Amino acid sequence: MILCDTHADTLYRIACDKPENLDVTMKRLEEGGVSLQVLAMFVGEDDNPSHIEKRFEAMLAAYETLKAQGWKQAFDPSEAEEGVVKTMLSIEGCEVFAPGLHTISHYREKGVRMAAVTWNYENALGIPACVNEDQGLKPYGLEAVKEMQRLKIAVDLSHLNIAGFYDILNKTFAPPLASHSCCRKLRDHPRNLTDQQLKDLFKAGGYIGLNFYPAFLVEECQPCTLNTLVDHIDHMHQLGGEGMVGFGSDFDGISSKPEGLDNPADFPKLIDALRARGYSQKHLEGIAGLSLLEYYERIG
Ligand SMILES: [Zn+2]
Repeated sequence: MILCDTHADTLYRIACDKPENLDVTMKRLEEGGVSLQVLAMFVGEDDNPSHIEKRFEAMLAAYETLKAQGWKQAFDPSEAEEGVVKTMLSIEGCEVFAPGLHTISHYREKGVRMAAVTWNYENALGIPACVNEDQGLKPYGLEAVKEMQRLKIAVDLSHLNIAGFYDILNKTFAPPLASHSCCRKLRDHPRNLTDQQLKDLFKAGGYIGLNFYPAFLVEECQPCTLNTLVDHIDHMHQLGGEGMVGFGSDFDGISSKPEGLDNPADFPKLIDALRARGYSQKHLEGIAGLSLLEYYERIG
Protein backbone atom coordinates (compact mmCIF):
# COMPACT_ATOMS: atom_id res chain seq x y z
CA MET A 1 0.00 0.00 0.00
CA ILE A 2 1.33 3.47 -0.88
CA LEU A 3 1.03 5.68 2.20
CA CYS A 4 1.45 9.47 2.07
CA ASP A 5 1.53 12.10 4.80
CA THR A 6 1.16 15.70 3.62
CA HIS A 7 2.60 17.51 6.66
CA ALA A 8 5.44 17.19 9.17
CA ASP A 9 7.57 19.93 10.74
CA THR A 10 10.72 17.82 11.06
CA LEU A 11 13.02 20.12 9.05
CA TYR A 12 12.04 23.09 11.18
CA ARG A 13 12.64 21.08 14.36
CA ILE A 14 16.09 19.97 13.17
CA ALA A 15 17.25 23.33 11.80
CA CYS A 16 15.56 25.96 13.96
CA ASP A 17 14.21 24.37 17.13
CA LYS A 18 15.00 21.31 19.27
CA PRO A 19 16.33 18.46 17.19
CA GLU A 20 15.99 15.84 19.93
CA ASN A 21 13.06 13.42 20.40
CA LEU A 22 11.81 13.84 16.86
CA ASP A 23 8.56 12.09 15.91
CA VAL A 24 9.71 11.48 12.35
CA THR A 25 12.77 9.27 11.91
CA MET A 26 13.70 7.08 8.95
CA LYS A 27 13.27 3.96 11.09
CA ARG A 28 9.70 4.94 12.04
CA LEU A 29 8.81 5.95 8.47
CA GLU A 30 9.99 2.50 7.37
CA GLU A 31 8.15 0.74 10.20
CA GLY A 32 4.94 2.62 9.42
CA GLY A 33 5.12 1.82 5.70
CA VAL A 34 5.27 5.48 4.69
CA SER A 35 5.99 5.95 0.97
CA LEU A 36 5.88 9.74 0.80
CA GLN A 37 6.47 12.08 3.73
CA VAL A 38 6.01 15.75 2.92
CA LEU A 39 8.46 17.87 4.94
CA ALA A 40 7.43 21.47 5.51
CA MET A 41 9.76 24.42 5.60
CA PHE A 42 8.12 26.59 8.19
CA VAL A 43 8.55 30.32 8.60
CA GLY A 44 7.03 31.11 12.00
CA GLU A 45 6.20 34.61 13.13
CA ASP A 46 9.40 36.43 12.25
CA ASP A 47 8.77 38.37 9.03
CA ASN A 48 12.21 39.96 8.71
CA PRO A 49 13.19 38.94 5.14
CA SER A 50 16.83 38.24 6.00
CA HIS A 51 15.83 36.03 8.94
CA ILE A 52 13.37 34.14 6.72
CA GLU A 53 16.05 33.56 4.11
CA LYS A 54 18.52 32.31 6.75
CA ARG A 55 15.88 30.00 8.19
CA PHE A 56 15.18 28.53 4.76
CA GLU A 57 18.89 28.07 4.11
CA ALA A 58 19.17 26.22 7.43
CA MET A 59 16.21 23.96 6.65
CA LEU A 60 17.50 23.20 3.16
CA ALA A 61 20.92 22.43 4.64
CA ALA A 62 19.27 20.09 7.16
CA TYR A 63 17.50 18.38 4.26
CA GLU A 64 20.80 17.97 2.40
CA THR A 65 22.27 16.36 5.52
CA LEU A 66 19.34 13.92 5.69
CA LYS A 67 19.77 13.12 2.00
CA ALA A 68 23.49 12.49 2.58
CA GLN A 69 22.35 9.95 5.20
CA GLY A 70 20.23 8.19 2.58
CA TRP A 71 16.86 9.99 2.70
CA LYS A 72 15.37 10.16 -0.79
CA GLN A 73 13.73 13.22 -2.32
CA ALA A 74 10.68 12.93 -4.59
CA PHE A 75 10.00 15.79 -7.00
CA ASP A 76 6.52 14.50 -7.78
CA PRO A 77 4.14 12.31 -5.74
CA SER A 78 3.92 9.90 -8.68
CA GLU A 79 7.43 8.77 -7.65
CA ALA A 80 5.95 7.20 -4.49
CA GLU A 81 6.51 3.44 -4.31
CA GLU A 82 5.36 0.83 -1.87
CA GLY A 83 8.13 -0.26 0.50
CA VAL A 84 10.40 2.73 -0.21
CA VAL A 85 10.41 5.90 1.90
CA LYS A 86 10.63 9.15 -0.06
CA THR A 87 10.21 12.73 1.06
CA MET A 88 8.98 15.84 -0.69
CA LEU A 89 9.39 19.52 0.23
CA SER A 90 6.62 21.96 1.07
CA ILE A 91 6.44 25.47 2.49
CA GLU A 92 4.25 26.53 5.41
CA GLY A 93 3.65 30.27 5.25
CA CYS A 94 4.48 32.05 1.97
CA GLU A 95 6.40 34.95 3.55
CA VAL A 96 9.35 33.67 1.54
CA PHE A 97 7.47 34.55 -1.68
CA ALA A 98 6.95 38.18 -0.61
CA PRO A 99 9.95 39.62 -2.53
CA GLY A 100 8.43 38.68 -5.91
CA LEU A 101 7.10 35.91 -8.16
CA HIS A 102 10.65 34.83 -9.09
CA THR A 103 11.04 33.39 -5.58
CA ILE A 104 8.31 30.82 -6.38
CA SER A 105 10.22 29.28 -9.28
CA HIS A 106 13.40 29.34 -7.17
CA TYR A 107 11.80 27.07 -4.55
CA ARG A 108 10.04 25.00 -7.22
CA GLU A 109 13.49 24.16 -8.58
CA LYS A 110 14.48 22.95 -5.09
CA GLY A 111 11.55 20.52 -5.26
CA VAL A 112 8.82 22.39 -3.37
CA ARG A 113 5.46 20.99 -4.55
CA MET A 114 3.08 22.37 -1.92
CA ALA A 115 2.85 25.77 -0.22
CA ALA A 116 0.50 27.04 2.50
CA VAL A 117 -0.46 30.64 1.76
CA THR A 118 -0.21 31.70 5.42
CA TRP A 119 0.69 30.34 8.81
CA ASN A 120 -0.93 32.08 11.80
CA TYR A 121 0.12 35.62 10.82
CA GLU A 122 -0.97 37.96 8.07
CA ASN A 123 1.60 38.11 5.28
CA ALA A 124 2.04 39.64 1.80
CA LEU A 125 -0.40 37.11 0.33
CA GLY A 126 -3.30 36.78 2.74
CA ILE A 127 -4.87 36.46 6.18
CA PRO A 128 -5.04 33.34 8.37
CA ALA A 129 -8.24 32.02 9.93
CA CYS A 130 -7.04 32.90 13.42
CA VAL A 131 -6.89 36.63 12.50
CA ASN A 132 -10.21 37.06 10.65
CA GLU A 133 -12.42 35.10 8.27
CA ASP A 134 -13.67 37.81 5.92
CA GLN A 135 -10.65 39.54 4.39
CA GLY A 136 -9.73 37.80 1.13
CA LEU A 137 -6.40 37.31 -0.59
CA LYS A 138 -4.35 40.42 -1.29
CA PRO A 139 -3.81 41.31 -4.98
CA TYR A 140 -0.24 39.96 -4.74
CA GLY A 141 -1.57 36.83 -3.04
CA LEU A 142 -3.85 36.14 -5.97
CA GLU A 143 -0.96 36.64 -8.39
CA ALA A 144 1.31 34.40 -6.33
CA VAL A 145 -1.31 31.64 -6.09
CA LYS A 146 -1.73 31.68 -9.89
CA GLU A 147 2.05 31.47 -10.31
CA MET A 148 2.19 28.50 -7.91
CA GLN A 149 -0.55 26.80 -9.91
CA ARG A 150 1.29 27.46 -13.18
CA LEU A 151 4.36 25.76 -11.68
CA LYS A 152 2.28 22.80 -10.38
CA ILE A 153 2.80 23.70 -6.74
CA ALA A 154 -0.28 22.59 -4.77
CA VAL A 155 -1.79 25.63 -3.06
CA ASP A 156 -2.30 24.70 0.58
CA LEU A 157 -5.32 26.17 2.42
CA SER A 158 -4.43 24.98 5.92
CA HIS A 159 -4.26 28.02 8.25
CA LEU A 160 -5.85 30.32 5.62
CA ASN A 161 -9.14 32.09 6.37
CA ILE A 162 -12.51 31.43 4.71
CA ALA A 163 -12.45 34.50 2.42
CA GLY A 164 -8.99 33.52 1.13
CA PHE A 165 -10.19 29.94 0.65
CA TYR A 166 -13.03 31.14 -1.60
CA ASP A 167 -10.78 33.54 -3.52
CA ILE A 168 -8.63 30.56 -4.47
CA LEU A 169 -11.65 28.41 -5.33
CA ASN A 170 -13.45 31.10 -7.33
CA LYS A 171 -10.71 33.23 -8.87
CA THR A 172 -7.96 30.73 -9.78
CA PHE A 173 -7.86 27.62 -11.97
CA ALA A 174 -6.41 24.61 -10.10
CA PRO A 175 -8.01 22.83 -7.12
CA PRO A 176 -6.24 23.56 -3.80
CA LEU A 177 -5.58 21.21 -0.90
CA ALA A 178 -5.59 21.51 2.87
CA SER A 179 -2.47 19.60 3.92
CA HIS A 180 -3.23 19.34 7.66
CA SER A 181 -6.75 20.28 8.78
CA CYS A 182 -9.88 18.66 10.27
CA CYS A 183 -13.68 19.11 10.33
CA ARG A 184 -15.00 22.22 12.08
CA LYS A 185 -18.37 20.52 12.55
CA LEU A 186 -16.72 17.94 14.86
CA ARG A 187 -14.30 20.34 16.51
CA ASP A 188 -15.11 24.04 16.39
CA HIS A 189 -11.66 25.53 15.78
CA PRO A 190 -10.61 28.17 13.23
CA ARG A 191 -7.92 25.79 11.90
CA ASN A 192 -10.64 23.40 10.73
CA LEU A 193 -12.82 23.55 7.61
CA THR A 194 -16.58 24.11 7.79
CA ASP A 195 -18.94 21.65 6.13
CA GLN A 196 -19.59 24.16 3.35
CA GLN A 197 -15.85 24.60 2.74
CA LEU A 198 -15.33 20.84 2.65
CA LYS A 199 -18.23 20.32 0.22
CA ASP A 200 -16.92 23.08 -2.04
CA LEU A 201 -13.34 21.79 -1.81
CA PHE A 202 -14.46 18.31 -2.88
CA LYS A 203 -16.70 19.68 -5.65
CA ALA A 204 -13.65 21.54 -6.98
CA GLY A 205 -11.55 18.34 -7.02
CA GLY A 206 -9.36 19.36 -4.06
CA TYR A 207 -7.87 17.24 -1.30
CA ILE A 208 -7.49 17.27 2.49
CA GLY A 209 -4.94 15.56 4.74
CA LEU A 210 -6.32 14.94 8.23
CA ASN A 211 -4.34 16.59 11.04
CA PHE A 212 -3.58 14.33 14.04
CA TYR A 213 -3.48 17.10 16.66
CA PRO A 214 -6.05 16.33 19.40
CA ALA A 215 -6.74 20.07 19.84
CA PHE A 216 -8.14 20.08 16.26
CA LEU A 217 -9.95 16.74 16.61
CA VAL A 218 -11.90 16.89 19.89
CA GLU A 219 -13.38 19.56 22.11
CA GLU A 220 -11.21 20.37 25.13
CA CYS A 221 -10.72 17.61 27.72
CA GLN A 222 -12.37 14.97 25.53
CA PRO A 223 -10.44 11.76 24.87
CA CYS A 224 -8.84 11.51 21.42
CA THR A 225 -8.41 8.02 20.00
CA LEU A 226 -7.84 6.42 16.61
CA ASN A 227 -11.63 6.25 16.33
CA THR A 228 -11.82 10.05 16.63
CA LEU A 229 -9.69 10.31 13.48
CA VAL A 230 -11.94 7.79 11.74
CA ASP A 231 -14.96 9.95 12.73
CA HIS A 232 -13.42 12.95 10.94
CA ILE A 233 -12.65 10.88 7.84
CA ASP A 234 -16.21 9.47 7.92
CA HIS A 235 -17.59 12.99 8.13
CA MET A 236 -15.50 14.13 5.15
CA HIS A 237 -16.76 11.14 3.17
CA GLN A 238 -20.36 12.06 4.02
CA LEU A 239 -19.71 15.49 2.50
CA GLY A 240 -18.52 14.04 -0.82
CA GLY A 241 -14.86 13.51 0.03
CA GLU A 242 -14.46 9.95 -1.18
CA GLY A 243 -11.18 9.77 -3.10
CA MET A 244 -10.07 13.19 -1.80
CA VAL A 245 -9.11 12.54 1.81
CA GLY A 246 -5.86 11.34 3.39
CA PHE A 247 -3.38 11.99 6.18
CA GLY A 248 -1.54 15.19 7.15
CA SER A 249 -0.18 14.20 10.56
CA ASP A 250 1.61 17.40 11.63
CA PHE A 251 4.16 15.19 13.41
CA ASP A 252 7.03 17.20 14.90
CA GLY A 253 4.68 20.19 15.01
CA ILE A 254 2.17 19.03 17.63
CA SER A 255 2.56 18.86 21.39
CA SER A 256 0.12 16.00 22.01
CA LYS A 257 -1.04 12.98 20.02
CA PRO A 258 -4.14 10.80 19.82
CA GLU A 259 -3.99 7.69 21.98
CA GLY A 260 -2.02 5.01 20.10
CA LEU A 261 -0.71 7.32 17.39
CA ASP A 262 2.62 8.63 18.61
CA ASN A 263 4.69 8.73 15.45
CA PRO A 264 4.80 7.45 11.84
CA ALA A 265 5.45 3.85 12.99
CA ASP A 266 1.82 3.81 14.21
CA PHE A 267 0.24 4.43 10.78
CA PRO A 268 -0.77 0.74 10.42
CA LYS A 269 -2.93 1.11 13.57
CA LEU A 270 -4.86 3.93 11.91
CA ILE A 271 -5.36 1.84 8.76
CA ASP A 272 -6.62 -1.00 11.00
CA ALA A 273 -9.05 1.38 12.75
CA LEU A 274 -10.43 2.46 9.36
CA ARG A 275 -10.72 -1.18 8.26
CA ALA A 276 -12.59 -2.02 11.47
CA ARG A 277 -15.08 0.78 10.65
CA GLY A 278 -15.88 -0.98 7.38
CA TYR A 279 -13.68 0.77 4.83
CA SER A 280 -12.94 -1.49 1.84
CA GLN A 281 -9.41 -2.26 0.67
CA LYS A 282 -9.94 0.11 -2.28
CA HIS A 283 -11.01 2.92 0.06
CA LEU A 284 -8.10 2.23 2.39
CA GLU A 285 -5.62 2.42 -0.47
CA GLY A 286 -7.16 5.72 -1.55
CA ILE A 287 -7.04 7.27 1.91
CA ALA A 288 -3.54 5.94 2.58
CA GLY A 289 -2.02 7.50 -0.51
CA LEU A 290 -3.54 6.92 -3.94
CA SER A 291 -5.99 9.80 -3.54
CA LEU A 292 -3.10 12.22 -3.07
CA LEU A 293 -1.42 10.90 -6.22
CA GLU A 294 -4.72 11.39 -8.10
CA TYR A 295 -5.03 14.93 -6.74
CA TYR A 296 -1.58 15.76 -8.17
CA GLU A 297 -2.68 14.32 -11.52
CA ARG A 298 -5.61 16.77 -11.42
CA ILE A 299 -3.34 19.78 -10.89
CA GLY A 300 -0.59 18.56 -13.22
ZN1 LIG B 1 0.49 24.08 10.48
